[in-house]
Amino acid sequence: MTASVVVDEPSAAVQWVTRVYVGLLIGGFALMPAYLIAYLYVFQSPALTFENHAFHELAITAATLEGLFVAYVSWRCYQSSGEPLLRWLTLSFLAFVLIYALHGAFTGMAHHNIWLFLLYGPASRLAMAALLLVALLAWHQPPDPTTVRRAPSRWLGWIGLFVLIDAAVAVIAYSPVASNIAVRVTMEGGALVLSSVNVAVMLARRIRSPLMKIFGISVTSFALSSLAFILARPWNHMWWLAHAIFAAGFFLLSYGVVQAFRTTRSFSTIYSQEELMARLAEAMARTESALQELKRTNLKLEHLAATDPLTGAANRRQFIEMVDAEITRARRGGAPFSLLALDLDHFKAINDSYGHQVGDEILRGFVKKCLDAIRPYDGVARVGGEEFMVLLPQVALGVAQSIGERIREAIANGVFGGQLGESVPLTVSIGVSQFGPDGDTIDAILRTADERLYRAKHLGRNRVIAT
Ligand code: GH3
Ligand code: MG
Ligand code: MG
Repeated sequence: MTASVVVDEPSAAVQWVTRVYVGLLIGGFALMPAYLIAYLYVFQSPALTFENHAFHELAITAATLEGLFVAYVSWRCYQSSGEPLLRWLTLSFLAFVLIYALHGAFTGMAHHNIWLFLLYGPASRLAMAALLLVALLAWHQPPDPTTVRRAPSRWLGWIGLFVLIDAAVAVIAYSPVASNIAVRVTMEGGALVLSSVNVAVMLARRIRSPLMKIFGISVTSFALSSLAFILARPWNHMWWLAHAIFAAGFFLLSYGVVQAFRTTRSFSTIYSQEELMARLAEAMARTESALQELKRTNLKLEHLAATDPLTGAANRRQFIEMVDAEITRARRGGAPFSLLALDLDHFKAINDSYGHQVGDEILRGFVKKCLDAIRPYDGVARVGGEEFMVLLPQVALGVAQSIGERIREAIANGVFGGQLGESVPLTVSIGVSQFGPDGDTIDAILRTADERLYRAKHLGRNRVIAT
């Protein structure tokens, strides 16, 4: 079963090449925006613009709503797993939403105070990049206790800080320094540097978990969007491309958060496909061995439920089933079969003289002797204290009687209780019946065998009665 999961391990070289290929793919994919930026930078006239306020407001409103939703989802993940990374991630989304929303809200101010409109963009990216870097540094830190997770004061403190940043940006926008291009470039460049450091730390720490790969690609997009914003002028195509690159990174990161939410609610315990396959194979192997163990236990239980613990002979329930099966066979036109009903003679007296333990030992010896005297496919069952039945398939009354005789003789000539240092003489009385002539139901043939057994007792014991 496990073979269906792990087929033919390929060679180490092939494994290495595929691993490197995957690494290159992820790197190539993360740098995709760089190709677009280069393309636009080289081939597009920077003078071409698309100034559409309604479209900008719509895009920022959508980004704000999505940001709020993702902040909520990561907050839920944090509440569940307590991972500090998720706390910082939630805060970075909150910072983004609370600062970036004003970039959209002040679209109409573009021709009154361009800085009030423009500066909220780089400010939001700078705040977000800073918090994402802290988030990365918190990777694999122990989870926060539940009381800390819920404490509203911490969250309110941070929200207060983001509102303060909003006010500070407005103050800068209305101050003379705002027109100094260095202000915007410093903020945007700060975001670019922090995001680049973030990716560098990830690579240096060799963080490779699936969700962190998504995190790394998103942060690379944020870095590249800041680069595009630095190269852009308001409303030109580089500027719109910068928005799109940021949105792509944001979508991807929110995808990671939602994946975490839908699985383990954590960023660190999401497993890679390779790990999942290995775990699956291991779990299947464990299930398989548990199944085998269960089968063995079932067989043991079946055996226990069908046998008498003292002598190892079949019990009454099992014997009835065997007789039922024989009746079905006989009715389908099979050969007749017979039964022997056996009862040890004066067993109470033996118990009284030698004790119960010797009595038990005699019962065990009796079954052994019976088994020696019959064919392998005949069955001995203990149906009462010192009462037994023997099923003789494919045997008619005459032969059954002689088998009974053989048992009677073997018992009468045997010596019992030897294992306990005794030598007890024993005899058995036997009644015989045959399916068909003596009845065609289980009750009828059992009753006939019993009647004949009692006749044997009545006639002086140690004998076989078949008519
Ligand atoms: P009879 O020849 O008429 O069959 O006489 P009996 O003494 O064998 O008849 P009875 O059925 O009255 O006695 C059966 C005795 O078997 C009674 C009981 O003490 C004993 N016995 C039943 N089960 C066990 C057992 O598991 N171990 C032992 N040691 N004795 C048992
Ligand atoms: Mg009895
Ligand atoms: Mg008896």
